[in-house]
Amino acid sequence: MTERLYYNDPNQLEFEATIRESGQVEDRFFAVLDRSAFYPTSGGQPHDTGQLNNIDIVEVTVEDDESVRHWSNSALGEPGDTVRGVVDTTRRRHFRQQHTAQHIVSHVFHSMYSLRTMSVHLGEEYSAIEFNTDTFPPEKLKQAEKASNDILAQNLPIEILIVAAAEAACLPLRKELTRTGKIRVIRIGDIEYSPCGGTHCNSTAEVRAIKLTGIEKIRGRILVKFLAGEIALEDYFGRYEVTSELSRKFTCHFSDLPEKVISLQTNASELRQEVAALGKELLPVRVESMAGSVRTVGKYQFASGDIGSTDAKSAVQLAQAVAEKIEGAALVQSGGRLVIAVSSQSGLHAGKLTSKFNQRSGLKGGGGQTMAQIGGAEDGKLSQYVELFSSVLNDE
Ligand SMILES: [Zn+2]
Repeated sequence: MTERLYYNDPNQLEFEATIRESGQVEDRFFAVLDRSAFYPTSGGQPHDTGQLNNIDIVEVTVEDDESVRHWSNSALGEPGDTVRGVVDTTRRRHFRQQHTAQHIVSHVFHSMYSLRTMSVHLGEEYSAIEFNTDTFPPEKLKQAEKASNDILAQNLPIEILIVAAAEAACLPLRKELTRTGKIRVIRIGDIEYSPCGGTHCNSTAEVRAIKLTGIEKIRGRILVKFLAGEIALEDYFGRYEVTSELSRKFTCHFSDLPEKVISLQTNASELRQEVAALGKELLPVRVESMAGSVRTVGKYQFASGDIGSTDAKSAVQLAQAVAEKIEGAALVQSGGRLVIAVSSQSGLHAGKLTSKFNQRSGLKGGGGQTMAQIGGAEDGKLSQYVELFSSVLNDE
């Protein structure tokens, strides 16, 4: 059995110990120590990382016999060797913050809404708690977030109580006891008592901030996702930068940004409709102009043109009208799109011409007898596409 130093003091990050057992499994090495400050993956909380004798510890696990294995990519020593362990401070602090935040949020949902915590995820990027309900209104989520942060602001002390099961049963525990013997209880001020083996902050203020980021459905229950600690602050700082930049661009308060974006989207959609209507009006003029540049390639008449970034429908209409007018083939570029159309009288097949064109141009697309479309074209390269297509047409 490994004496678990974090059990009584999660602030102890450096220690000396003796190797009890060591070995190798495939390409990884492990050591079991007589004592360790490393937290092993258990109870929903991921393991610590750090170093033993300057060798990186990449994983820490608990075995069936309750021994703690420290895993690394090189040998850690022989039984009897003394090792010096250093636990990674940032990762330890992160999971202390996530775990304490989880107890606080679970307490808030329990005390305010009588909801029970069914499962817990403590992650590197976010954490989450599953509660025994299938619905939860957004306004209650806001209340719970405020109540959670109010607990942080009270700077309540967090204590580790090691008590006998009978004694623990007398405490106002939020969840039922599943163990016998000595029980480790995490006490937050006088408001929250939970049996737990994890690493926690020294006070609620150390959690710094809790942001409930949203609700998802899982197994017919709700999963409340949250950020706590440094990652909650980093998220806020990042969002602040983005919204500040947008506020400057739109010269408005950040709270008016959604309205601004919606109005921009509406404007863009109206403009697109207007452009489509104008394109329709312009179609006969464009057809005349393009058909005027017709030339003979092999046995066929061919015309081409670029109509800039406009709607796909206009490009198709133009290519089809020109092909019919010249009784040959037409190639129209519109932004990244190429439209190839052929007259039904021409004896050509647009789809087949396109696959030959694709082989030579490296572009992708296809179509049927009289019309085909190709994506991924580059602006300003129409003359190259015309040359390639002419070579295809010449071979027909
Ligand atoms: Zn816990």
